[in-house]
Amino acid sequence: MGNQTRLSNGLNVVSFKQPAQEYGAAFVVPTPAVDSSGIAHLVEHLVFRYSDRYQQRHALFAANSVLPVKINASSHNGYSYFYAVSPSKSVLLKIVGYLYAGLQQIDYCADDIKRERDGVIARELAMYEATSDYQTQMSIWRGDRAPDCYHHWGGYCDTLAEISAEDVAAYKSQYYQPELITLLLAGVEADELPLLCTAKSNSTDKAYVAKEHRFFSDTLQDDYIFSWWLPECYIDGLLSAQTRLSDAMKPFNMRVFVEDSANHVKKFALRLIGRPGQLMAAQQVLIDEIRHLHIVPKQHIFFESKYPETINALLAWYHGQQPLNRKVVALSQALTLTPVITGARPLKKPVIRIMERKTDVEVSCPLVTDTLENHAPQVPAELPNRLTALAAKLNDNVHFACDLQDWILHYSLTGLTVDQQNTFIKEVMCDERLWLPRTGGHCYAMGVQRVDNGIRLYGVMDDEPQQRREAMEQLFARYRHL
Ligand SMILES: [Zn+2]
Repeated sequence: MGNQTRLSNGLNVVSFKQPAQEYGAAFVVPTPAVDSSGIAHLVEHLVFRYSDRYQQRHALFAANSVLPVKINASSHNGYSYFYAVSPSKSVLLKIVGYLYAGLQQIDYCADDIKRERDGVIARELAMYEATSDYQTQMSIWRGDRAPDCYHHWGGYCDTLAEISAEDVAAYKSQYYQPELITLLLAGVEADELPLLCTAKSNSTDKAYVAKEHRFFSDTLQDDYIFSWWLPECYIDGLLSAQTRLSDAMKPFNMRVFVEDSANHVKKFALRLIGRPGQLMAAQQVLIDEIRHLHIVPKQHIFFESKYPETINALLAWYHGQQPLNRKVVALSQALTLTPVITGARPLKKPVIRIMERKTDVEVSCPLVTDTLENHAPQVPAELPNRLTALAAKLNDNVHFACDLQDWILHYSLTGLTVDQQNTFIKEVMCDERLWLPRTGGHCYAMGVQRVDNGIRLYGVMDDEPQQRREAMEQLFARYRHL
């Protein structure tokens, strides 16, 4: 069982015995999508941007590259998780302080908001839009005018563009108060937390005002969308029946679409997409098919494999504590009602504004140097799947590969002693110029990988992948000769 305490600043802390090899910490922040602006998404990104305590904009990247720690954030159904795992307790505690400072930061410069919003997030949205599933789902959501319709937590490029620095400050003041945040710990006790976490927050009483969006279409829509709003306990059952239901709807030229998450009132939508003339007949067949399948109410179990094992266990415990929606109606009965009828609305292409590079770069990173002290840097050994194909093009003679969006650069460390390699890695990773494509808002992600004879630096969804080689090699050369 977890040991629960509330710190004097209001932060709720639950600590567990160390379940595995790693120490772990996860801040759980309820961040409801109160509109489709994408404000909660932008704020999640900004937590890592900087804080009054840790001002270096590349601190996250430098830390993930050389410290024995994995730091990340993710969101799921109206919650944002900021987490870290490490085999070292002291490193983890330092990072918990760093994360908390980011959570409590209220004010951000307009330039930083712009780089994250119009640079980084715009590229992230462009990446999602490359898949047709995302396009379908988002055009359904944009057309939906039901009272309980889904708000897009991640935001659309046209709605994100409207978010101001005041909106960010108001949303953070309202939803990132320590009393609303739970810190889950594995292998660490509340009284071991850094002082930074126990400090009072600068409370303001600003509140975020939800925006109203109306999405218009300039094309004629052929298809109609018929939606039934159902209690969330049927999500798993209907998702697994989706193929069967789709087959049953084929004679009516209707497509079946099951939303895979619940909205803010714990309901989800089962949708048919097609022509109204076929609706009555299709609806009857749908009801018969669902009666036949005996779909029973089921607790939607939190299971995500994308987190480190320690974090998965902490989050599963947290969500197991949340109250259930016990209002259950028979599924076949709910489907006899008249559906909500809407049309799809097209997605706007992300607008990526290229901005001039900022000139005030930092060449050090106190978070990393204070934490690492005299230890050897620990560079990740793994590479994201997306880069595997490009990495396969590298060999003894080819040190750089790119396609239209991504790039990877191999830098050889042969000829340097182990100590020289460690010093080189530590210094170059702490120089913001290495991370400028990301902190400047010119790509979606950057990272580094350790290989036998050197390191590999990569960028994802970069607007100038072919330009990166020269600048990076110059920077590397600068540190090699120190
Ligand atoms: Zn994002």
